Amino acid sequence: MTTLRSGTATHVGQVRSLNEDSFLVLPDADLYGVADGMGGHNGGEIASAMAVEFLEEHAGEPSLENLKQAARIGNRAIFEKAGNDVDLHGMGTTLCAVRVVPGPEGDEIAWINVGDSRVYLFRDDELIQLSRDHSLVEDLLRDGQLTPDEAKVHPKRNIITRALGIDVDVDVDGSTVIPFTGDRFLLCSDGLFGEVTADQISSALRRLADPSEAADELVRLANESGGRDNITVVIVEVTDDDGRSAAASAALLAAEASRLKSVDGDEPATAPAGDAYVPVFADRRSSLPESTDDYGAESDEMFRDLDGARSKRFTWRVALFVVALLAVVGVVLGAIVWSGSNTYFVGFDGNNVAVYKGKPGGVLWIDPQLQETTDITKSDLPQDAREAVAANKQFSSEAAAVRYVVTLQAIVDGQEAESATTTTTQPKTTTTTKASSTTTTAPKTTTTTPAPTTTAAP
Ligand code: MG
Repeated sequence: MTTLRSGTATHVGQVRSLNEDSFLVLPDADLYGVADGMGGHNGGEIASAMAVEFLEEHAGEPSLENLKQAARIGNRAIFEKAGNDVDLHGMGTTLCAVRVVPGPEGDEIAWINVGDSRVYLFRDDELIQLSRDHSLVEDLLRDGQLTPDEAKVHPKRNIITRALGIDVDVDVDGSTVIPFTGDRFLLCSDGLFGEVTADQISSALRRLADPSEAADELVRLANESGGRDNITVVIVEVTDDDGRSAAASAALLAAEASRLKSVDGDEPATAPAGDAYVPVFADRRSSLPESTDDYGAESDEMFRDLDGARSKRFTWRVALFVVALLAVVGVVLGAIVWSGSNTYFVGFDGNNVAVYKGKPGGVLWIDPQLQETTDITKSDLPQDAREAVAANKQFSSEAAAVRYVVTLQAIVDGQEAESATTTTTQPKTTTTTKASSTTTTAPKTTTTTPAPTTTAAP
């Protein structure tokens, strides 16, 4: 069974008077969420609280589809409440969530997203954004009209193109990730990543083992950088993946062993690759003169003994020095060869993402070896991932490289699911959609539940 632990922190920030973020932490259901509300007259606070409340009430049996459906039910309820109360007109909210769900080969983590709150995965010391912002700058970035640096300071970076409560129905992004022990899922409102860099987030997640301490630290950093918005952080850590990490490592080791075997013929594949340099060193040592007796042979008869003694002393010293030097060179070469052949990187093989063994560009005479080419293409990847792969992202083990590829696949799957359902983007500022425009796309479930006005807004 997959087990989790979590830590949460939320703060109004340094500028706002009201915290319109809400969060959901339900360890018994393995369900966690963050919502960031917007709209005057407490509308944002109400909308975000409704989003997490409907998520809790309607999440049902654990599955990605049920999570998406719960978000859509919440959307409908917020939309109707906004339409019925002139003070709440135009309120809306983001929503992102994660939950443990059963998958074909054991537990998975399902995530969903609407708006510009984010779901990150911190794995193998790497911070990966799983969700994609539904924001104007993200669209411009994808179209190549903005660079990442320009996006960070764009005056309209707060405009989101999708939210709960704005229309009768909403498209919900989502996908699943296979969890491994040590994975940390970070859910946060834009008050965090608007103030704190990805490196700072990674650093805090790496440094602080306790998820609660890490969440507090992230909120502290956001406040320290200005705290111009409400800040909410939920960290969900996988503490037990039901032996999956060990099983994955064993499977990879077995695959590696059989691969080595196929290369080396009958040789057992048990020798650690680190010994590979020994023959190189041994060969060089064997080319040393076996005896130093030849030295000094040209000296005059008269001084033969003396010269011979000197030469011998000299040549013994030289020989010892050469041996010592070769030993050092051998060790250094061995280390280089070892690191060159026992690191992995993920790069492009033509247009496709591929796993290589070795160092990008090779080390000495060792060229990187192509291990596996995937079906993921350049154009499948969001910009940050594409840049990371183009830079030949390095890993200390094959398992870590493969996990990264699996994560990339999850991102691609999430995007494909989204682009299959996306029709038009709708600016958050558009609030004029009338209830009469209800179509068959509205969820079947009618939300007769009286919408709550007060909830556990943090
Ligand atoms: Mg916000």
